[in-house]
Amino acid sequence: MPMLQPLPMPEKTTGVLSFDFDGTLVCPDSEPMLEPAFFDKIKELREDGWVWGINTGRSQAQMIDGFLEGGFPFLPDFMVARERELYTPGSMNRWLPVREWNVRSEKAHKKVYKRAKKFLKQVQDHVESDTGAEWVSEVGDPAGIVANSIEEMAGILEFIDAGISEQKDLGYLRNTIYLRFSHKDYHKGTSLAEIARRCGVGAERVFTIGDGHNDLDMLYPKYAGMLACPGNADDVVKAHVREQGGYIAEGLASLGTLEALEHFISL
Ligand SMILES: [Mg+2]
Repeated sequence: MPMLQPLPMPEKTTGVLSFDFDGTLVCPDSEPMLEPAFFDKIKELREDGWVWGINTGRSQAQMIDGFLEGGFPFLPDFMVARERELYTPGSMNRWLPVREWNVRSEKAHKKVYKRAKKFLKQVQDHVESDTGAEWVSEVGDPAGIVANSIEEMAGILEFIDAGISEQKDLGYLRNTIYLRFSHKDYHKGTSLAEIARRCGVGAERVFTIGDGHNDLDMLYPKYAGMLACPGNADDVVKAHVREQGGYIAEGLASLGTLEALEHFISL
């Protein structure tokens, strides 16, 4: 893989830009999958002190593939992986964990998975016995589900929603046919708030955009004064963005993202 570098950091950070990846920047049905003009825009905004990053449900490794898929000419300044793990670019294509935050998150997750063990087992049994979906358990992400269709996921959600309110601190993040259980205080919104805090930037100077269910958490003015979704966003996301006073782009994926950037930020 080519050795990508981030743009040199600005002397003074004036704002933070956060982008969901799948469906918001890249769209497999488009050619190119990601408009190169997006990166021109980022370069332009950089001159004005904006830092930028990807805020995704993908794991860190899957996101590294994503840089290739999207034809990134340079790396983002930060990455939020699995909606909660924070990374900054290091040398030699390595990503460095933001240790303080990631360790705190990991501890909270261990605790919540342990506490909810019985419930998670019930969900696992339901998924494995009553549906065609797959229960996925990985290091650092022990309780996930991959369904075969949105309809199948909807049925599984009914099962989960009937019992989850009794599980202290347990939540889930869901995107189309994918779901992962998580601590309810760790999601794209709180991850973004931590990034902004580290950059010394208030929410009014934070821009964020996403198209799916797992983006809902970050699409609030308390996290991002400038919030948006692309034209291909889920209807639930569009309704939410409208309600929060955000911008619903007409353009799809990266074109919609460009449109939203231009709507909010004039240089
Ligand atoms: Mg998405």
